[in-house]
Amino acid sequence: MNIHEYQAKELLAKYGAPIAAGHAAFTVEEAVEAAKQLPGPLYVVKSQIHAGGRGKGKFKELAPEAKGGVRLAFSLDEVRAHAADMLGNTLVTVQTGEAGKQVNRLYITDGADIAKEFYLALLVDRTSSRIAFVVSTEGGMDIEEVAHSTPEKIHTFSVDPATGFMPHHGRAVANALGLKGDQAKQAAKVAGALYKAFEATDASQIEINPLALTEQGNLLVLDAKVGFDGNALFRHKDLMELRDETEEDPAELEASKYDLAYIKLDGDIGCMVNGAGLAMATMDIIKLNGMFPANFLDVGGGANKEKVTAAFKIILKDPNVKGILVNIFGGIMRCDIIAEGIVAAAKEVNLSVPLVVRLEGTNVQQGKDILANSGLPIVAANDLGDAAEKIVAEVKQVA
Ligand code: GDP
Ligand code: MG
Repeated sequence: MNIHEYQAKELLAKYGAPIAAGHAAFTVEEAVEAAKQLPGPLYVVKSQIHAGGRGKGKFKELAPEAKGGVRLAFSLDEVRAHAADMLGNTLVTVQTGEAGKQVNRLYITDGADIAKEFYLALLVDRTSSRIAFVVSTEGGMDIEEVAHSTPEKIHTFSVDPATGFMPHHGRAVANALGLKGDQAKQAAKVAGALYKAFEATDASQIEINPLALTEQGNLLVLDAKVGFDGNALFRHKDLMELRDETEEDPAELEASKYDLAYIKLDGDIGCMVNGAGLAMATMDIIKLNGMFPANFLDVGGGANKEKVTAAFKIILKDPNVKGILVNIFGGIMRCDIIAEGIVAAAKEVNLSVPLVVRLEGTNVQQGKDILANSGLPIVAANDLGDAAEKIVAEVKQVA
């Protein structure tokens, strides 16, 4: 689960990270009121969406030369104008995809005079199974370019969970940023605060870009992107309240209500599979046969008719889906139950695209009989390779 920048900053501040004063705003008037509470004369008006690249982003509804989703304002009137430009409009950034995201919230912050922009992030390094720091002196809006062209400017090191964050980790961050004296102390303190926040909240990532060095010589968390491990959220009821469902993919949101692991992808073949590994293999073999999966979907080990129906509806809501491949291995789950669910769901949703089903495992013959006697144009497949070949052939035939 991801949260907005303003929520992330308020959270990190509780752990001792230095942030500028700021307030969230949902209307133009609130934005102006928020600015009035700040010292001025420099304000920053920031679109709050769950995507980065806002500064260089473009609003669909505004002229191409209009400014992006993060703007400086030098008066309350400018705050008002920027807020009016942003609220309700669609911001397209490198991270949102072409569709963009509607801006419904703003963050009005005290503007800082920036001398230098650094990059500081924490994530779970799966190779070392540790929390790792990613540090670079080349922060700001072009970090992707730095990673691509000059990867040697990005430093990474991990923290041994047995010791936790130690003073030498703080010094390593300061060193990597080329800071000395008081500024090195500040960097170590920020690194420690972020580590503490990361551990305490079961975060999956904390990205500070930029970590700014101000003209006055202070380090400041100027932008913050924080995501949490969904599997640990049950331990953090307070964090769950920060969820903004309007930022999530509607299909993924619907799927989560049925406890279905669904991730939308860009291809044409909808997939319904039990088990994450089998789902991955199914996507691979669709690709091997020349087409692309429209989604990842693991219905889980204990799927019932209701779940299968919900899964079908979610897959079919995607206008790209030209065919569905169901691949079920009945272990705990019985093939006849699944077959009943598939038939009921196909009837209920008035299935309009080809459907190939591969069943294997417990009660497979009963399951196949149910499908065959359903009167529905369901194509049965014997194994995974056969299933993929058949769905691709069916879809190409319809096209
Ligand atoms: P992003 O584009 O989504 O990553 O949004 P950021 O919050 O990182 O803002 C983009 C850029 O706006 C930053 O890299 C800064 O250069 C600039 N910016 C943000 N806040 C301030 C500020 O307080 N003062 C100044 N001068 N620039 C800022
Ligand atoms: Mg940024």
